[in-house]
Amino acid sequence: MLSQTSKRLPQTLAKSGTHVAVERLAIIMGDQLNDDAPLLGKLDKSRDAVLMMEVEEESTHVPSHKQRIVLFLSAMRHFATHLANKGYRMHYVQLEDSSNTQSFTSEIERAVKQLRPNRVLYTHPGEWRVKKTIDEAAQAVRVPVEVHADHHFLVSLSEFGDWMTGRKQPVMEHFYRAQRRRLGVLMQNNGQPEGDTWNFDPMNRQAFKDQPHIKKPYSPKPDAMTKDVIRLVNERFPHHPGSLETFCWPVTRTQALRALKDFVANRLANFGAYQDAMWTNEPFLYHSALSTSLNLKLLAPLECVVQATKAYQNGQAPLNSVEGFVRQIIGWREFIHGIYWHEGPTYRDRNSLNQHGMLPDFYWTGQTDMTCMRQAIGQVLSYGYGHHIQRLMVTGNFALIAGVSPQLISDWYLGMYVDAVDWVTLPNTLGMVMHADNGLVGSKPYAASGKYIQRMSNYCSNCPYDPGLRTGQQACPFTTFYWDFLMQNRKRLQHNLRMRMALRNLDRISKKELSAISAQADHRRQEFGI
Ligand code: SF4
Repeated sequence: MLSQTSKRLPQTLAKSGTHVAVERLAIIMGDQLNDDAPLLGKLDKSRDAVLMMEVEEESTHVPSHKQRIVLFLSAMRHFATHLANKGYRMHYVQLEDSSNTQSFTSEIERAVKQLRPNRVLYTHPGEWRVKKTIDEAAQAVRVPVEVHADHHFLVSLSEFGDWMTGRKQPVMEHFYRAQRRRLGVLMQNNGQPEGDTWNFDPMNRQAFKDQPHIKKPYSPKPDAMTKDVIRLVNERFPHHPGSLETFCWPVTRTQALRALKDFVANRLANFGAYQDAMWTNEPFLYHSALSTSLNLKLLAPLECVVQATKAYQNGQAPLNSVEGFVRQIIGWREFIHGIYWHEGPTYRDRNSLNQHGMLPDFYWTGQTDMTCMRQAIGQVLSYGYGHHIQRLMVTGNFALIAGVSPQLISDWYLGMYVDAVDWVTLPNTLGMVMHADNGLVGSKPYAASGKYIQRMSNYCSNCPYDPGLRTGQQACPFTTFYWDFLMQNRKRLQHNLRMRMALRNLDRISKKELSAISAQADHRRQEFGI
C-alpha cells in the first residue's frame, strides 16, 4: 500500500515570512498513520494541506524510551512521504528544523500564521492532553476547528457511552460478548459462540515447560530513513532509557502487514496455551507483537481479527488461541479505549488505594537481584516491549503491592513501552494494574505473591530469593509485599467477593508473623527507595 515512488521526506510548505495559500489545514498526529482516515478523504489536494510535527516535548513530557521515539518519528516520516507521493501537500516539521519551537502548541500557532488556513481539521487524538493543546492553539490564533471521529476503532465513543449507560460496574466480558455478536466474529448460525464457549481462558494458562520451537517475530531491518532517525535520537536524547541496537519494529503499513502474516503463520497456533507464560530470555514467546502497528494505526483491528479467524477456519490454529487473540483486539482494546474517553481527563488523578510511594531506580536500569524484575525490565530496555502478563503480574504487580504512586508507574509505562499511547496505557495501568479507579476496570486488585511468578515462569529457579518465604533475608520481596498489601488494604477489600479467599488466608497468619511481615515490607521499601 505504501508507494515507493519517492523516499524523500517532504519539507515545510513555506519558509518563515512567505505565504502559500492553504484553505484547510489537517493535523495528523504520530499515532494516526492510516491513509483511509475520513479526514484525509475530505481534503482537496490542490487547496488544503496536511500538517505533521515532530516536537521534542512529546519525547520528554515523560522520559521516552529511545526505541519509542525512533518508532514514532520513523513511522511518521514514512507516512508523510507516502502521503506526498499520493499528491497531498505536506507541511512537515522535522525535529532538527532550526525554527522548530518543539511544542505542539507553538508549532500549530506557527503553521497557522504561516499558512493562514481558514479552518483547522484534526482526527480525535489518543490523549486528553493533546486534544486540549490543539484546541487551545487554534483558539489562540482564532481559527475554527473541526474534529473528526477516529474510525480506526470498532466502537465509537458515543456507542461506548450508550453501552455504559446504567451500568454501575462495566464488565469487559459483557462488552466483549456484545461485540462478538454485533460483528459476527466466531459466532455460529444459532447465535451461540463458536465451540459453544465464550472464553477459553482455563486452557490458556499453561506454563512454558516444554519449550516447543518458537519462530521469532518478523523484524524489518532499518532502512536509510530509519537509520537517519536512529542517529538523530542518539544525538538528541543520549540519556534517555533504552537501547537502539535491537530496533526491530515495523514503521510502514507494508511491514506491519508482513508482521501480521508472520504472526498468524508462525505463532498464533500456540499463542493461546502459553499467553500467560514467562520465560528467561524469551521476550516474545508466541505473542503477536502487533500492538505498535495497531496503536500507530498501520494496521486496522478488523483485518487482524479476519486473518486470525481465517486461520481457525482453515485448521491452522485452534479455537482457544484464536479466541484469545480476538478477545484482546475487539474486547480488551476497544473497552480500554472507551473507558479512557468516557471517564474524562481527571481519570489520571485517581488513587483509590491512596498509594504515594516513589518508583524505584531499577525500573530505569534493570539493575536488581530480583530475577523476574531484571528480566521484565531488561527486555523493556532492549525492545521497549513486555507482554501483558509481564506488565500486569511482574512490573505492575510489584508497583501495586509495594505501594508505588499510580501516577508514577503510569508515566513509566507511557514512556517505556513502544506501543504506549495514553488512551491505552492509563486505564491499563491506573485501572487494571494499580486498582486506583476503585474497581472500574478490574473488579479486584491483581495482587500476587512470588508463587504466582514461580508457577508461570522459570525466573525463580535462578533467583537469590525464595517465593515461598514471607520473612527473612531470603524471602521473596513479592511475597512479603503481597501479604503486607493485604494487611494494609484489608478494610477496603473486605466486601470484595473475589478477595475473600486471599483475606481468609491472611487470617490464618499469626499476629507475630504479621508484624514481622510488616516490618520487613517497610525495610524493603526503604532499601528500594519507595
Ligand atoms: Fe521474582 Fe521472587 Fe521469583 Fe525472585 S523469587 S524471581 S523475586 S518472584
